[in-house]
Amino acid sequence: MTQERFTGSFTQQEPIPEAGIEAAMAVLRHGRLHRYNTAPGEVAETALLEEEFAALTGARYCLAVASGGYALACALRALEVQPGEPVLTNAFTLAPVPGAIASVGAKPVFVEITDQLVLDFSDLEAKAKTTGARVLMLSHMRGHLCDMEALLGLCARLGLRIIEDCAHTMGAAWKGVASGRQGVIGCYSMQTYKHVNAGEGGLLISDDAEVMARAVLLSGSYMLYGSHRAAPAVEVFEAVRMQVPNVSGRMDNLRAAILRPQLRLLAERVARWAERYQALEAGLRGVPGLRLVERPVAETYVGSSFQFLLPDWSAARIGAFLGRTLARGVELKWFGAADPVAFTSRYQHWGYAEPQSLPQTDAILAGLVDMRVPLTFTVADCAQIARIIRAEALTVGQGPEPEAVELPVIQ
Ligand SMILES: *Cc1c(COP(=O)(O)O)cnc(C)c1O
Repeated sequence: MTQERFTGSFTQQEPIPEAGIEAAMAVLRHGRLHRYNTAPGEVAETALLEEEFAALTGARYCLAVASGGYALACALRALEVQPGEPVLTNAFTLAPVPGAIASVGAKPVFVEITDQLVLDFSDLEAKAKTTGARVLMLSHMRGHLCDMEALLGLCARLGLRIIEDCAHTMGAAWKGVASGRQGVIGCYSMQTYKHVNAGEGGLLISDDAEVMARAVLLSGSYMLYGSHRAAPAVEVFEAVRMQVPNVSGRMDNLRAAILRPQLRLLAERVARWAERYQALEAGLRGVPGLRLVERPVAETYVGSSFQFLLPDWSAARIGAFLGRTLARGVELKWFGAADPVAFTSRYQHWGYAEPQSLPQTDAILAGLVDMRVPLTFTVADCAQIARIIRAEALTVGQGPEPEAVELPVIQ
């Protein structure tokens, strides 16, 4: 009997919508790519993008920048985080998060996660108290939101200001409140694998006028902040404009042009991702030894990636499982490997941070499997992927212990 094999690409996103291509061509034809280079009476694509994203999220202010990682570092600088200062963050996140903290000379302090893949509040409280940290860089890693109401209460009590890393939660919400709106600053990425695609790009939102004035000045506004639309009043800039360094990281009009039509598609994309996510979830429910991450009712999530846990599986067994699924066209990533493969680095791999011990997170990551879900997959593709994972999890999970770990290499 021949086994079914999946033939789609886990790294193929949808093309840029025609409206984005046309708008990009117009920018290329007139040549005014720099955001402050406008013809008389013209409003830059970048300023319009900021205005539209502020309206979409309900934020007072928005700034477009060069990358998600830049947005995070800019947020830390805008909150005046000092060199050597501890900054709390999730122990399970992606490299740009601790990287942003290190880039301002601050110290990443990792907080344990729960088996729901979100921040452990008791460890957060303990580390906030022992380090005296003022800032939490909250990473909604892989789109999992913690109980945001409980977190806001806890952070208010601990005197912690929150920067939200919404790289995987653009379009997500907690009890209807858009992700990125609960912290002092929300940061997003428009890198190709996120929810809107400009190749690279970042957005910051905030309701705090002084914080946003600092962010605009930091991004490199050459004192031309008056041309921003979703920005604080000019007086707010005047109070700080001589104090804030220029750390250039602006967004340009070409990428803004590509992005604006995609913002209009975001709600539809979130709905399409939900169908795909639910097909995977339905197909993987009830597999012995495989645990799904149950999504809270309060959470509106974006199913752009899918995680499951193989708790108590040995490294050799997980290696064998990954090899067999890959042979059938299903690319899974594992956060438990000794050496990072592509984006799967863990806190122990970030050697610039002080060594820290997080046994609870270690135990979870040892069995954590991750999969990208591009929108080029159909719902039927997702059902097929789930059948393949289910079959191999049953075969490998219930078979004899494999002898050696042999990890397939996938980029
Ligand atoms: C992608 C990503 C970022 C930002 O990354 P850039 O590549 O700099 O845009 C931040 N946090 C997480 C969790 C991410 O996945």
